Amino acid sequence: MIFSKKKIIIAYTIEKCSKCGMQRKREFIDGDYLFSESSKCNSCDGTTKIEKIFGEELE
Ligand SMILES: [Zn+2]
Repeated sequence: MIFSKKKIIIAYTIEKCSKCGMQRKREFIDGDYLFSESSKCNSCDGTTKIEKIFGEELE
């Protein structure tokens, strides 16, 4: 059997809280860009910033 290999790349965003250092991985959303303020931290009252955006391949 032959499968045509189709690769799907899923983009992820890593958010990091500048106050407590908590990191969270979530799926990339349109409009995300590096070092922008993203959302409220879950564990303190700080704000998370986007630390990294990367793609992962799904096979
Ligand atoms: Zn925090």
